[in-house]
Amino acid sequence: MQQDIDRILITSRQIADRVGELAAELAGKYAPAGEEQSGELTIVAILSGSLIFLADLIRRLPMRMRIALVTVSSYPGTSTESRGARLFEQITADVAGRDVLIVDDILDTGGTLRAVRAELARRQPRSIRTCVLLRKPGKAPPDVPADFVGFDIDNYFVVGYGLDYDGLYRNLPDIAVLRPELYTSGPGGDRA
Ligand code: 5GP
Ligand code: MG
Repeated sequence: MQQDIDRILITSRQIADRVGELAAELAGKYAPAGEEQSGELTIVAILSGSLIFLADLIRRLPMRMRIALVTVSSYPGTSTESRGARLFEQITADVAGRDVLIVDDILDTGGTLRAVRAELARRQPRSIRTCVLLRKPGKAPPDVPADFVGFDIDNYFVVGYGLDYDGLYRNLPDIAVLRPELYTSGPGGDRA
């Protein structure tokens, strides 16, 4: 697997440090020191890419929480260009009146967050905010804000720390770019 990597963009150490900072930001928002516990947070995590981020983040959060998982895919198989977000399972969590935090791996065109957000907004939660580990520049429209962002990255297709290419590389501890010849779709590719 290591031989498929062109270069590492963000090391596991950098990720761990930043996840700790994000957890502190979130705790400041949802469980401010000295304030009485104000209900519970409902985290809606978008699978599969956010699974490692989710696991690391929630273990550093102090507040009571429930976790709902939703599967969305916009990059089927070997595509590296979004094909539009598709919600695979309806969200079943009861979010009415609750503080909801959507957690995703990466904000690119915003299609995924928009779809999940719209679905949740119909159920009248008390608040909806979003937290992403990574954000790519420029493409996400202003109606799809990320309230908490781990890292802004350049416009690469990245893998590792939960993110895949064609189902592979989720178990890389770092966030990396693959050797270009491994990407078989997208601009210049032959399977676009
Ligand atoms: P959006 O819907 O904002 O265009 O894209 C968000 C989703 O596309 C993410 O949840 C993620 O699953 C996938 N995605 C976007 N960019 C990348 C990338 O660089 N690498 C990987 N592995 N997935 C990505
Ligand atoms: Mg995703």
